[in-house]
Amino acid sequence: MKMSGFFKKEGHQTSLVQGYEEIGKFDKLYLSQVFTDTCVPPKVLILGNLTYGGTGFYYDKAPKLPDEIEHCMPDYGLYDAYIEKIRRYGESDSVYKFYTDYSIGFLTRGCFRQCSFCVNRNSTRSVPASPLEEFMDEKRKKLCFLDDNFFACPEWESLLDKVMETGKRYQFRQGLDLRIMQKKHIEKLFSGKLDDKVYFAFDDIRDKDLIIRKLDLLHETVEVKMKYIRVYVLCGFDRVGKWGNGFWYQDIRDTLERVKILMSFGCFPYIMRYEKCWTSPYYGMYTVISRWCNQPAQFKKKSLREFCNLQGGSSKRYLDEFEKEYPQISEYLDMKYDEVVADGALYRG
Ligand code: SF4
Repeated sequence: MKMSGFFKKEGHQTSLVQGYEEIGKFDKLYLSQVFTDTCVPPKVLILGNLTYGGTGFYYDKAPKLPDEIEHCMPDYGLYDAYIEKIRRYGESDSVYKFYTDYSIGFLTRGCFRQCSFCVNRNSTRSVPASPLEEFMDEKRKKLCFLDDNFFACPEWESLLDKVMETGKRYQFRQGLDLRIMQKKHIEKLFSGKLDDKVYFAFDDIRDKDLIIRKLDLLHETVEVKMKYIRVYVLCGFDRVGKWGNGFWYQDIRDTLERVKILMSFGCFPYIMRYEKCWTSPYYGMYTVISRWCNQPAQFKKKSLREFCNLQGGSSKRYLDEFEKEYPQISEYLDMKYDEVVADGALYRG
């Protein structure tokens, strides 16, 4: 959208290409890719009039956009024809609301943590990136921020003040780093017009005590229904880089332990599967855990065992086989949201 905005300003016409069969119609093509596992036909990549880039091709080595494009107002109209098309297919508004209702951008970029699984692993700090007015379309009623680690930026407070001055609803879509958040961060964040859910991250079981303390602090500091708190839970990433036999059971257990902690606070986990999950011998377990957690209506009403039994077929088989091999996992299979929340003393201070 930024590239389209830039080229339109330069007097060019731009369109979103909606299928490879259309690519012959254009003088110049730009192709970006976010995820590394997206497939692009090799014959497309060698086209003489194509420039491609993005984290999907280069991951943490992706060249940055030139400044004059990076700091250009996005062309929010670029997706209009695509939205029209999916509307005709009868998709619900929630599928495309980000295309129609939100101004989207990065108030800050970067992070100091250097997690080895993250595209920001070479970054050393969070710094201001785009001033709000650079990407805010006055006509759009909401704001969506994609910042990597907003509260790690020393200027977070003045940036948030400017957001609040707009009077628009806002959300941080990437998981905020709860570990560094203090009372002042929580109070400020929740004093504005938050939109929809608030997303945090709980990527590593070794942060368990800290996350519990911070969830307690959140509970004490603001009156927020915890069902509006969503927490990303990374699984399938081996920090020693081996993915050996001992790893998978422990990782599945650590994932369910994090789910249990979040449940006890009434929050909803969102499972993020690292790519190795797809080739894990326990691929099926990762699938059923993420299907259960990532559908809040199912997660709220059913235990993992009930969910799998109801699904039947391979879901039930994955769970039964795993439990047979690792009976110690049973303690996590029958936990139910309402019961675990009611038994809040489990983790909550
Ligand atoms: S804290 Fe988040 S943004 Fe920062 S390096 Fe780790 S995963 Fe990436």
